[in-house]
Amino acid sequence: MSKAKFAWMGGKFVKWEDAKVHILTHALHYGSAVFEGVHSYKTKKGSALFRLNEHIERFFNSANALSMKINFTKKELKDAIYGLVRRNKIGDGYIRPLAYYGYGPVGIFPKGIPTNVALVAIPWEHYYSKDLRIMTSKYIRHSEKSTVFGTKISGNYANSILAMYEARKKGFDEALMLDEKGYVAEGPAENIFIVKNSCLITPNSRSALHGITRNSLLEISKDMGIRAYERKVRLNEVENADEVFFCGTATEVAPVVEVNNKKIRDGKAGEITLRIKNKYMNIVRGNDGKYIKWVTFV
Ligand code: PMP
Repeated sequence: MSKAKFAWMGGKFVKWEDAKVHILTHALHYGSAVFEGVHSYKTKKGSALFRLNEHIERFFNSANALSMKINFTKKELKDAIYGLVRRNKIGDGYIRPLAYYGYGPVGIFPKGIPTNVALVAIPWEHYYSKDLRIMTSKYIRHSEKSTVFGTKISGNYANSILAMYEARKKGFDEALMLDEKGYVAEGPAENIFIVKNSCLITPNSRSALHGITRNSLLEISKDMGIRAYERKVRLNEVENADEVFFCGTATEVAPVVEVNNKKIRDGKAGEITLRIKNKYMNIVRGNDGKYIKWVTFV
């Protein structure tokens, strides 16, 4: 497991071993927390954070959905992230901002329970270093009728964990989750793209988090002369696609080579997928002038 020297809790840098919470922390019982995942990359100009502003915006939106009061400004939080990345000497790494309802009485309604904010920054390279085999989950993704669209609320991830266990127990790497109408939504913590006739297509399902990586890839692909659009996607379109890949902050761009035991084309990572991955990796490492606006050097 990746460790670091320090974490940050409620405004203070604390030793890794001291980054603890009480057993009566509300979020532990009810999933009443929100989080982000920010990728840090080692670049020629030091460590750089990819699309930090967008992650911080989403973090505050998620907190707002749970009526949490974050007692830090966005700037204070960003400064704390820079401080933690420096102290922990993170190059390629991952930053986890977390806000959670803390110590308080047992009971679902968190009235009067304080919102705590914490940061973890750990070294890390790749989430997946292999191509993925995925299966359709029996669990459907939350719709916007059962949660707040576009947020990362911890409790919602029980649904992802169920899907992951289901897939891993059957020998797959990842799950593919559908929405309540049976259209393709996303992976447990990734978005999905398919390539058909040299076009990129990603589900517009409101049961998917419309992620920051997804958004970046839609923009980048235009530059690469690849047509890309969002629309409803049926499961058989994924199974019969020319190429399939998952994407996300942690996952980056991960080729999917098998869906429900059916090989995608020849069962190898697709050419367009690899071109997009290559372009994306160049951008996140600060090597593409046009997209340097997405990169924050620490
Ligand atoms: N969907 C879900 C459910 C996720 O948790 C994530 C990871 N944040 C994504 C998609 C990908 O989003 P992003 O590109 O913003 O990391």
